[in-house]
Formats: sequence, C-alpha cells, structure tokens
Amino acid sequence: MSHIFPRHTAKQPPVAVGGEGCYLIDASGKRYLDASGGAAVSCLGHGDRTVIDAVKGQLDRLAFAHTGFFTSEPAEALADLLVENAPEGIDRVYLVSGGSEATEAAIKLARQYFVEKGEPQRGRLIARKQSYHGNTIGALSAGGNEWRRKQFGPLLLDVSHIDPCYEYRLRAEGEEAEAYGRRAADALEEELLRVGPETVMAFMAEPVVGATAGAVPPAPGYFRRIREICDRYGILLILDEVMCGMGRTGTLFACEQDGVRPDILCVAKGLGAGYQPIGAMLCSGAIYDAIANGSGFFQHGHTYIGHPTAAAAGHAVVSSILERGLVERCARQGEALRAALDARFGQHANVGDIRGRGLFLGLELVSDRATKAPFDPSRGIAGRIKAAAFEAGLICYPMSGTIDGRLGDHVLLAPPFIIEDAQIEELAEKLDGAIATALAA
Ligand code: PMP
Repeated sequence: MSHIFPRHTAKQPPVAVGGEGCYLIDASGKRYLDASGGAAVSCLGHGDRTVIDAVKGQLDRLAFAHTGFFTSEPAEALADLLVENAPEGIDRVYLVSGGSEATEAAIKLARQYFVEKGEPQRGRLIARKQSYHGNTIGALSAGGNEWRRKQFGPLLLDVSHIDPCYEYRLRAEGEEAEAYGRRAADALEEELLRVGPETVMAFMAEPVVGATAGAVPPAPGYFRRIREICDRYGILLILDEVMCGMGRTGTLFACEQDGVRPDILCVAKGLGAGYQPIGAMLCSGAIYDAIANGSGFFQHGHTYIGHPTAAAAGHAVVSSILERGLVERCARQGEALRAALDARFGQHANVGDIRGRGLFLGLELVSDRATKAPFDPSRGIAGRIKAAAFEAGLICYPMSGTIDGRLGDHVLLAPPFIIEDAQIEELAEKLDGAIATALAA
C-alpha cells in the first residue's frame, strides 16, 4: 500500500526512476516522451549535466542560509541575470519556491504598495475567468477556474473576474482580431467603473493561458489596451508567466511579444526546469522604491526564499537557455510542432482549434467543428486522451475548461526546448492515435 496522499486514481501509477533528454523512464523500463514537461516545467529535458553539476557544486559549498541573516552568491547572481534580461522597468527580484508563492507574493506586494503610497482604499484585484494562478488562498481567489474554486468559496477573497481573451469562442462572427482584442480588454475598464476604480489595486492575467484552456494566446493589441487602461486608472498590471515564461513561447518572457510592460511579473516552472523547486516575483523599481522609502520592509516571507541550492539551479537553467540559444530553438521547434499538428489535425472533425506560441501549444476538442459544440463532459474526452497517450508512451496534459458553463476538452503540449524533429513526429503520431482511441471509446 502507498502512503502517499492524495492518490487521484485508484490504480497505483508507474514508478518513475529515470530521465534522459525528452524521455522519462519507469521501473519496468518503459520510456515516455515527455510532451508536456510535467506541466511546462522540464524545459531543458531530463538529466541536463550543467544544471546537475551546478546543484551538486552548490550543495558541496552551502545548501542553505536563511535570508533573515544572509544573502548568497547564487541568489544574487540569479537576480542579476533575471533583471538583465527582463522587460524594461523591471529591476527587483523576490525569489520563492514555486508558482503559487510567486503570485501570492505579487498580490500582497500590490496591496502593500498602495498602503505605502497612502492609497489604502485600493484593495481589490481584477482577474479573469478561465485562468489559473495557483492553489494557495490568495492565488486561488485570483484564478477564475470554477472547478478548482468550488469547494473553497467561503475562504476566498472577493476578486472580480472578467471574461478572458479567447478568440476561438468569444470573437464574434466577422469581427477583426484586433477589434476583438480591444473589446476584450475594454471589459477591464467596464469592471473598474462598476466597482469604483479608486478601490482597485491591480489586474492579474496570464499572457498565454495555460492550465485552464490549453495555450490560449491573447488577440493582437489586447495587452497594449490593458496597459493603457491600467495606466488611466492608476492600477498595477501583474503578469503571471509561471507557465508561459522562461523562453517557452519563443521569447524569454511571453509579454515581450505583446509589447507590454508589467509592473509585477511572476515566473516559476521553467525557471528551475524541475531540477529544484523555485519561482520568482519580479517588480518595477517604482514599487520597490515606494516600500524601501516607506516602511522599508515587504511584510512577507517564507523559510526558503532565496534558497541557495534552488537559486544555483535557476541560475544554471537561465544561463543555459540564454547561452545555448534555446529561446530561438524553442521558437523554431515550436513552428515545426505547429506544422506537424496542423498536418495531422488541421482538418480533423473533432479538433476545433490549434493554438499557442513557441513550444506552448494547445488543441481544443469539439464534437462538431462547425458549431464548436463541446463534447458531453460525461465522455471525459480529455482524460481519455491522457490515458491512451500514456499507454502509448506519450505524456500530454489534458484539461477540461469552463467559462460560464461552456465546457471544453483541451490538450496542452509543452515539450522540452531540446526536442528533435524525429521526436516531434513521434509526438504527433502518438497523439493522433490517442485521440482516435479516446473518440472511439
Ligand atoms: N500560475 C500559473 C499560470 C500556473 O500555470 C501555475 C501552475 N500550473 C501556478 C501559477 C501555480 O504554480 P505552482 O503549482 O508551482 O504553485
């Protein structure tokens, strides 16, 4: 009997014992092509020598020193590297242990910023339906995914959730993409005016939506308009790049492609590439200065902030991504994967949409391409695809999304940046087989 809690399936899953490049290996020796990097984590693949050696070297020198007393070389080096490569205006880094810690810290930082600025009435967050920002109470409150929130209603903060930017389902017939982008962004202004803009502190969004709908990119101009609205009403823009950041979309930060400058930027997953648990909240000098010149102390913290071993892993990962040209490679291989998916599923009767950026791609399954009608949820299509793919030695990340009762089955693909052309072909072929098996069931 396993004592691990919680077990999501009645059946004991295979025991993972090894990893080589894009493959994971279980105790029976079966190999799985890791086409989702866990959940967009393993950007360098498995067994990367540079990162392993950096972690081992750091453990030999110093595993841990508490930030209440010390800083450390790897934490300083990682913060420098992130700021050097971050969007303009971002120049401070708060190192945490994962995505939820990054978004939770972002929410608290936004609030403290306005308290320090003498605007204590600003305490409301606006976020989006069909979003995921983590599972701690603040982060879960920000997320708009009904399924994840349902049981915890009484514990959650009062956050406003506007419609997401979701061209496939929400762009009107005949509406230009840019006009839709502006219209979708204007929902932020409407909500600000509804609740009173002087009570709002920030808007939080994922530039490319991950865990709730399978790699949904924004419509052109959406985030530029969002930035304008944030500036008009003096609220902060928090971008959650926990999943889509660190090169995954073909630029180091996804928001670079939208020409938008966040005030606070959260990253995790790809930052440690799975070698250590690490995340980071980056913020502008203006926010930092307000606190530094005010109370002088961000009223937050965890035991493992700035953890030296995790920071050494993060530094080795980001250096590798930059020095080995992996951001460009991700963009290139992303195009190759996109072409392979278009070739196999472009005309597929049950694949309504293929979307995403770089090696962050999603497929939306529908029962009818013309009407975009989703499958009856009782068929559990996404779960069946995951199971059939896993059986065939392919790991992909399935999900069922909800916005206002509209359900959908999605598959998210986020393979390592080192994926080869032959592995892209293997991925597409196995996914094709898994979709066929799921639809036949
Ligand atoms: N934000 C986003 C966009 C995510 O995708 C996730 C994880 N899927 C999180 C936050 C939470 O990260 P973690 O699971 O590391 O706490």
